[in-house]
Amino acid sequence: MIVAGNWKMNLELESIESFIKVFAKNYKKEKVSSEVIFLPPYPFISLLANSFSEKKISIGAQNVHFENNGPYTGQISAPMLSSLNCKYVLIGHSEYRNVDNEKISERIKISIKNNLTPILCCGESIEIKKEKKTLDFLKDQLDTATNLLSDDEVQKIIIAYEPIWSIGTGSLPINEEIKNIIYFIKDYLNKKNNSDQRVLYGGSCNEKNVKNLSSIENLDGFLIGGASTNPESFFEILKQIEV
Ligand code: PEP
Repeated sequence: MIVAGNWKMNLELESIESFIKVFAKNYKKEKVSSEVIFLPPYPFISLLANSFSEKKISIGAQNVHFENNGPYTGQISAPMLSSLNCKYVLIGHSEYRNVDNEKISERIKISIKNNLTPILCCGESIEIKKEKKTLDFLKDQLDTATNLLSDDEVQKIIIAYEPIWSIGTGSLPINEEIKNIIYFIKDYLNKKNNSDQRVLYGGSCNEKNVKNLSSIENLDGFLIGGASTNPESFFEILKQIEV
């Protein structure tokens, strides 16, 4: 399983230093077979990357620009992230799509060129769910995100299915719904790009519900927001999904 923790715009230097201490202590004590990915705010990427040398702990960024460099004040490029030992990058998180939903495919392409594994977020709003248009909506999101990519590039993406109505709300789809959507995403990209896609679930996942969620067939892991900012909760999530 892959367990990625999206810290969003939370935690500062002091709280991150104490997070690292607590998490590292637990990690040494207990067996963890999942691959852990921390997605801290940009200023703390180096600190995280330099704090963990374990093979199964990686660092990623929460977004990336679609150009390698240039006059883009306030933006961060894929070569910059790569040079900081980042291995992953979130692309198209719904909280960012609200600000800038542009050039998702370009962002994925440039990430792959710079040896970053993109974690592409997709998922429907509550309105789309109520209209029963989720699958059409996901298909459009996947088409837009992959339109510039070769089959080999599509294969490298990890998809995070995150229903927008579930992010930070405590409401989750039932397991059967998640299972069907994972099947749909894998099947769609397999037929379109001949790929064998890894798919994560994200949305209100925590240490109490993760064991039940981890029984979902063909699920490859989780993208965790709120519960990943507390080292004890995040570590408990990892423990709960150990088989
Ligand atoms: C997220 O924002 O990616 C997320 C899954 O958030 P939360 O776990 O807080 O719902």
